[in-house]
This record gives sequence, structure tokens and C-alpha cells, in this order.
Amino acid sequence: MSVQNEAEKRNHRKLGAQLELFMSMEEAPGMPFFMPKGMIVRNELEKFWKEEHRKAGYEEIKTPIMMKQELWEQSGHWQHYHENMYFTDVEDQSYAIKPMNCPGAVLIYKSKRRSYRELPIRYGELGLVHRHELSGSLSGLLRVRSFTQDDAHLFVLEEQVQSELNKVLDLIDVFYSKFGFQYKIELSTRPEKYMGSMDMWNKAEEDLEKVLQQRNADYQVNHGDGSFYGPKIDFHLVDAIGRSWQCGTVQLDFQMPEKFNCEYIGEDNKAHRPIMIHRAIYGSIERFMAILIEHYEGNFPMWLAPVQVKVLPISQNHSEYADRVKGILLEKGFRVEIDDRIEKIGFKIREAQIGKVPYMMVVGNKESEEGKVSLRNREGKSQFISVSESISQMMNEDEMLR
Ligand SMILES: [Zn+2]
Repeated sequence: MSVQNEAEKRNHRKLGAQLELFMSMEEAPGMPFFMPKGMIVRNELEKFWKEEHRKAGYEEIKTPIMMKQELWEQSGHWQHYHENMYFTDVEDQSYAIKPMNCPGAVLIYKSKRRSYRELPIRYGELGLVHRHELSGSLSGLLRVRSFTQDDAHLFVLEEQVQSELNKVLDLIDVFYSKFGFQYKIELSTRPEKYMGSMDMWNKAEEDLEKVLQQRNADYQVNHGDGSFYGPKIDFHLVDAIGRSWQCGTVQLDFQMPEKFNCEYIGEDNKAHRPIMIHRAIYGSIERFMAILIEHYEGNFPMWLAPVQVKVLPISQNHSEYADRVKGILLEKGFRVEIDDRIEKIGFKIREAQIGKVPYMMVVGNKESEEGKVSLRNREGKSQFISVSESISQMMNEDEMLR
């Protein structure tokens, strides 16, 4: 099959409609609606994110979706990012809808006096942001106007920069491996227009590069591609058919702590400036979902599948037994549906296949008499086994996180 046909078969907009995951509406261009099944995938991704970040020593925060104009002037977004932002007025005061989460995290950092002993501070935020994109460029979940960044802002001492970068790279590896992605790394250095001193830039670029070299990472340098406030490392995922997608990013920032006058009290009892690290792993939940849908061709692994098992009674005589089986599965924590419509079993199986449900349990006379099920997997392989045996088989399939 040609790459183009392969890509079309995997198109996330098409599969998103077929699997009832999300929809795009004229009523809100570029702002996707998540349907019940899409919310399950989304929530599982967020649950995994929260759990891994908790283990990695992050604290979760949530900051307002709109904040006053003065804050955005102070952060520099007002001057540098104006045409991508949305605005509104409340009681004659001008507000901006946040295009980035950083200033909110800074305000929480600044909410009290900080000591060097508290650092590093790692704030994670699944933050809903809005950015204006031209309507012609909008596409499904890949190019949108509203999305949730899996953001984090780390406030660190200078001598912690390398070890914190290493930890971030470890965490990124945990995530991408989980989904079976290979990835490419790019280091972007000082652009022509930059803020801060040359010394700071040299130090920051050196830090990033040293970490990559120590890890023996394969990476490419993009000279002049960093953001105006600091150099960065970008991560490009390679999906099942070899396409690459930019997702994660790690950026060193000396400017924002300066602009907001962030401080900590050092061992010397004097005030010092922390260094800020901005980083995202999924990039955004929406974009990552689009990539996953195409990567898996809608065949989500068990832990992400919106419906994990579909119970299919052959006729109405088997509905009661099918209900009992469903009850047991629900009890065990499976996401299960029953198809008890008066339809031929072949039709029900086909529909479950179109819905890309990982497992079906067909139940008829023999099954209900012997207290068993015909467990059918995605490959069409069928086994006549007990309910408890089928449960342990399904639980063993790719780490179900339960
Ligand atoms: Zn940020």
C-alpha cells in the first residue's frame, strides 16, 4: 500500500467520526468537541500523565484561563504575541485569554518567599490555552484554536539545571516508549533576535548540549531556531508508518524570572534569580490524540480503548446470561457494552469490528449452559473459555494499569 493510502486509512478526522471520539463544528471553528468515547481516551492519557508526574516529583497546579492585560504586558506576550491572542473586557478592564500557561505558574511561584532549599520546584499544569489560527489552516485535532498543553514549569538553581534536564529527558522517554514511538531530538540555538546576554545564552546552550552528549543521544542542531528567550530541545515522534510529528519541547528561560522579578533566598541569605525550564511532553492532549489515532489506526491498546469488551448475545434467549457476564466485567473495572439488539450475530460482530473494540464475548446456548464465553480478539481468534479465564487473559494484554 502506498504511503498516501496508508495515511488516508489512518486519517484521524475520519476515524474520529467513525469511532465517535470528537467532532468539529461550525459553531466553534478550531475548538473541538469531545464526545463520550473521546473523553475516555483523553482521561486515560491525563490519568497516566498525572500519575507519572506525581512519581517524578511534580506538583499539579491550575491557573485562570483569562488574566488582566497588565500581566501579559509584563510577560511580553502583549508585545510579541498579540495577533495570536483573544481578548475580552470585564467591568471595563481588558483581559486576555491565555495563549500560554507560564505567567500563571510564575504568580504561584511568587506567592511566597522562597528559599534555595525548596528548589527545584516543579509545577505541572494541564492548561487550556487559546491561540488564534487562520480558519483556513484548521484541521481536526492537529491544528486547533483551543487545546490543553501538558505543561510544566520548573524553577531551579543554576547548579540543578543539568540534573533537572536529565530527569525531564528520562520522563519523556517513559512517555514515548509507552506508546511505542521512536523519536528524534533537535537542539535549537540562539536566534538573531534574542533577549538577555550572550554569556547566558552560551551557558544555556552548553548545558543543553552537555546533557544530550552525556546521554549519548542522537541529535541534530538547528542553528538560530531557539525562541527569543532561550534555547530549546524539540522532540519529533516517528509513528507506525514512519511519519514524524513534533510534540515535546524543553526550553531554558532566563528572561521570565527576570521580568517577574522571581527570587529565592540563597545559602548566603541574599536574593537570587532562579532559572525557569518550560517543558511539554504530549505537546497538547488534542494533538497527541490525533497522532495516536493515526499511529494505532484507531486500534487503541487495551488501557486506552473507549470500549474494551463488547458482549454479544446470539439471540434474546441469551440476554440474561449476557447481562450477568457484563455485570462481572463491570465489577472488575472493564469498560463494557452489550449489544442486545435483535440482529444477526454476524452483523453485531462486524459493527464491533468497525468500532475497533479489542474483545468480543459471543454468548449463545453452549456458553450460557456451561457458564463460558466465546472470547474473540481483534485478530478474529476465538476461544471457548470461562469468564474468569477470559478476564485474566484480557488483563494480561498490554499493561492495563490496573
Ligand atoms: Zn511556559
